[in-house]
Amino acid sequence: MESNKVVSFKSLSENVGRFDLKNKTFLVPQMNRIGTHLLAATFMGFGIDAVVMETYKGLDLGMEYTSGKECYPCQITTGDILYFMKKEKERLGHSFNPEDYIYFMPESDGPCRFGMYNKYQRIVLDSFPELSRVKIGSLTTKDGYSLDGIIEKERVRDLRKVAYFSVVVADILDRLLWRIRPYERETGMTDDFIEESMHVLEGSFKTYGTNKKFDKILDKLEEIVEEGKTIIDFTIPPKPLIGIVGEIYLRTQVHANQDVIRVLERYGAEVVNASIAEWVNYTTYDKLRDARIGFRLNLKQLRFGPMRDHLKKILGFGGELLYQESKQKKVYKRVRSLIDLAEDHKVAHLENILKEEDLFCFDAGTEACLSIPGIVEYARQGYNGVVNVYPFTCMPSTVTSAIVKPLMNKLRIPYLDTPYDSSFQPGREAAIRTFMYQAHQHLKRNGRKNLSGHR
Ligand code: SF4
Repeated sequence: MESNKVVSFKSLSENVGRFDLKNKTFLVPQMNRIGTHLLAATFMGFGIDAVVMETYKGLDLGMEYTSGKECYPCQITTGDILYFMKKEKERLGHSFNPEDYIYFMPESDGPCRFGMYNKYQRIVLDSFPELSRVKIGSLTTKDGYSLDGIIEKERVRDLRKVAYFSVVVADILDRLLWRIRPYERETGMTDDFIEESMHVLEGSFKTYGTNKKFDKILDKLEEIVEEGKTIIDFTIPPKPLIGIVGEIYLRTQVHANQDVIRVLERYGAEVVNASIAEWVNYTTYDKLRDARIGFRLNLKQLRFGPMRDHLKKILGFGGELLYQESKQKKVYKRVRSLIDLAEDHKVAHLENILKEEDLFCFDAGTEACLSIPGIVEYARQGYNGVVNVYPFTCMPSTVTSAIVKPLMNKLRIPYLDTPYDSSFQPGREAAIRTFMYQAHQHLKRNGRKNLSGHR
């Protein structure tokens, strides 16, 4: 691909945003493997031609077209889209038409750089004459990831509900993987089983998603859980329980984090990673929180117009959050009646922890709002260690580390920071090994949390 250095900045407003996906191929970058595939299957069920792009194969391209100062997930995803386009051009030859594609790159508002990825990638795509016509479809936390405008109006709410449901089901399947694999009867059984199960659930989402037949999908999930239990060797004693927090992309993208969960397991851990639904709930919660603050401020000044606007938002985001949390609770309840998987945190509870411990404030935003109280919650629940996984130089995760490290020292709970970029740190494995030695000692001294909720 030839790069054209002349770039029009008008493109940032015209070619990044929400676009109708009809008759387009919707390109989804792979973050957590299961979650991305179930989300794409949901879109497919709604008639959208969604494709999960191969990941990490284009890292060289990502490095070539970034300066090195960008966040690592930005480099990886830049590589993913450039690599996909390169391969697609090779595959289709003259019939390749960049206007057939919409590349999905969401964004968040607030103080960190995630809001800039799609703008930066727009500039990169625009520097190639043939790729400047590939649009970037962006959902934003500003409106709680609204899907308005991407499909027919009357189906937007349904798509949103099923997409959220797919996130929760993917979280459960991931948790099943981490629950079974450390205790599997034969090496490799769990990975094969979970991969197969993911494809089964993709089929369920394609078939039942569009009619919101959630129970049919849950029935399938229950069958999978029951079958998964047969892989467990119940004679293996409980292992140290390790909680993971951190930046959402790095902690869930196994290539980017050099498969940190598997490495921890190699040294004897059972791991629970923070969920994706937690972040989705947080974005809704945060919008609701902002609307409440806005309403109170305007009430003090008796400004009735803005009060009405904020009230509308309170009702909208409040209803959304209620729906999400009750749906999530229902799914976890059904699955936890079959197997002892870790429950998810409620965002309001996490905010209360921050207030009680006076550690941080939701006003500052970012994932630090979830990671800091998430770590405290792991500690309170009797986990044997906590790992913070994040991209090298990530701002919210560095803040998390600065606040939490002294606290963990005081509580005498093993804690490890694992910043990643594309290099392999020679001391990383030794650090994980040492951390796991401490976690084993913690287990001997204190026992561990039983994931069914009883210590
Ligand atoms: S969370 Fe970290 S990695 Fe993500 S955009 Fe912000 S600073 Fe970059």
